[in-house]
Formats: sequence, structure tokens, C-alpha cells
Amino acid sequence: MGGLLLGQVGEPVRTDGRCRPVDDPPDQRSRNRCRVLDVAGQIAALASEFHPLGHGARRPGFGLRRFVEGFRHVRRFEQFFDEPSEHPVHEGRGYRGLMPELPEVETIRRQLAPQLIGRTFVAGDAHESAKFAPALDAVGATVTDVRRRGKYLIFDLDDGAEELIGHLGMTGSFFRTAAEGDHPACSAHDAWVRAVWRMDDGNDLVFRDVRRFGRLRVVTAGDYEDIPTLRDMGLEPFDPAFNGKVLHERLRGSRRAVKTQLLSQRPVAGVGNIYADEALFLAGIHPLARRVGRARADRLAETIVAVLQAGVENGGTTLRDYVDAEGDTGRNQHELVAYGRGGEPCVECGTALRTRTIDARTSTFCTHCQRV
Ligand SMILES: [Zn+2]
Repeated sequence: MGGLLLGQVGEPVRTDGRCRPVDDPPDQRSRNRCRVLDVAGQIAALASEFHPLGHGARRPGFGLRRFVEGFRHVRRFEQFFDEPSEHPVHEGRGYRGLMPELPEVETIRRQLAPQLIGRTFVAGDAHESAKFAPALDAVGATVTDVRRRGKYLIFDLDDGAEELIGHLGMTGSFFRTAAEGDHPACSAHDAWVRAVWRMDDGNDLVFRDVRRFGRLRVVTAGDYEDIPTLRDMGLEPFDPAFNGKVLHERLRGSRRAVKTQLLSQRPVAGVGNIYADEALFLAGIHPLARRVGRARADRLAETIVAVLQAGVENGGTTLRDYVDAEGDTGRNQHELVAYGRGGEPCVECGTALRTRTIDARTSTFCTHCQRV
């Protein structure tokens, strides 16, 4: 075999590598590709939205009550990824286009832990790119724990001597499945499987990643020098030591916009675009605010924990049902008050929510309720 095959995201996929695409019918491939390109177009349209920063009346944030009451709005972002399953390759494992943040990763961790702890990787196969090939370094090791740090999954190997670290990027997912064939092979699955580990119980652990923003790495335990985001990460939001004082100290060290800081993972672990928008909205803090005093930091710490906790519950449900997909996709959409609702009325004051591109991602906020 050899030559090129057009891949999911319009990139040529080598067919002579260790991770070969399966022989999808041609019409299947082109349908998948069209869908992805269409989604990419919608992302581009979202990203190009720009509204100059407005200067609404000043008022304090309004906290958790609204968060709970406001959970009635459809998550638009998920909607346009959440098309009915006309595309069989997209059924089954993974997300419905839900970009993984802490709640999604935590859900996967909870699912994987009982399936993997105590299992030994007896063989493996990986896509040859530097992003995924290090997966094979875990072959021969026994999984002794499955942890999460921010948006990273960490599989402790051999009683903590080494760690297999996985970042899901945009579309990555881990799942366990019955072993295929005598030797594990990415090609035994579909074209987007990047790594497979054969376990001593006859199952395979599979890492699948359509867009290839994910990463796999095996490191000496705790040695994150080559993974700066992990090395410099702030406290876990559910750590009892995390509070407004800690957040305030972390934020005070930089003059960058508060949202930029949150996305860097340094003030607190695990907050991505969705939950940053939600937490800032509920705390009444503008995403471009550069000074967050102690009182506002106290409120923000509270709302960060609240939105992530709700996300673990709601996002978890979404993921679990998707893994078991029976074609019932609408039931577990969870609902957000700010993220993805640009142009819609603010749940607190009715002003149309604004969007603005910050750090190449769309931020949604209320110019009336959120103070710079
Ligand atoms: Zn408002």
C-alpha cells in the first residue's frame, strides 16, 4: 500500500504508516469530510465576530443564584456539532464536538480508572508522529492509578515510577474495547485511532483523535519540564486549599487580562474557554479586566468551583450517554448562561451579550453586568 488519502480534516494521511486508515467506502469519506469542513467554516464565522468593547453601567456580579436559575439556555456550540448521526464513523466513542475541559476529562478518568488499574500493557501500536509515538513507551508497564491534573489525564505506571500523560486536545478520546486481532493495530479500528495498548485482560485501550491536537507522552513521575503547562499549573479547583486568597495572589502576579490568565492554567487548573466565560459572567468580571481585587477574586473562586462542579455532573452525563450512543443525542445537553450565547439577552439584565475574540477564542460577556 502507499500513496495519499484525503483525511478527515483535509490533510493528506499517509497510508503506508503504522496507523492506516480503514477502507471506508469513498462516499463515506467524502461525507465525513464535508461535515468537518462545514463545522470548520462555522468556527471561523464565530471566531471572526468582533464587537468593540462596550461600556455599560457598572454593577456588581450576581453570583450563584443566577447560575442555577439560568441553566435553561441551549448550548449553541454543542448544537451545531450535535447533528443527528448521519455519519456512522462519528458514532460511538468520543464527544459530540464538545471540546474537552476539566469536567469532560474528569468524567473519562472516572470511567477508565476501574477498567485500567492493575492492568499491564503487553503490546502497543501508535501513529508514527511525535505527538503519539511516545505512547509505546508505556508498553510493559502496569497501570497503578488513573489521575487528572487540570485537563491532563495521568496514568501512573509501575507504582508511580513513570507516568503516561494524555492531553485530549480538541477531539481526543480514550476508551476500552475488546482486542482486535493477535497484535494491537491502529488500523484495526478507524482512521482516527492514534494509539492502541493491548492489556493483559484481552482488551485494548484506544486513543482516538480526529483533529490531532492531542498528545501522548511517558515521563519519569513528576518530571514535567517538557510540558510547561503542566509544570506551571495552579491548584486544582476542587483542592480544599484553593480559595479567593490563592486566586488573588496568582492573578496579581500578571498584568494580562483575567481571561487570558485563566486559560493559561496558572491561576487555577482546568478552566477552558467555556467555563472561563461562565465563571467570569457569574462573578460579574469582564474577561478583559486586568485588576481583580480580593473581593472579586473571592467571588471568582466561588463561581469557578461552581461551574466546574456543575460541568462534572452535566458534561459527565453527556459523555457517558454518547459512549453508549443509541442515537438519542438531545437529552443531555447542558445549558450555559454566557458561553455560546452571543447576541442573546443576558439572563440578568436583558442586554444583548457581546462577543469578542480574546486569545483566538470567542469570549461572550455582558457589558452591563461584567465590570472591567
Ligand atoms: Zn447583563
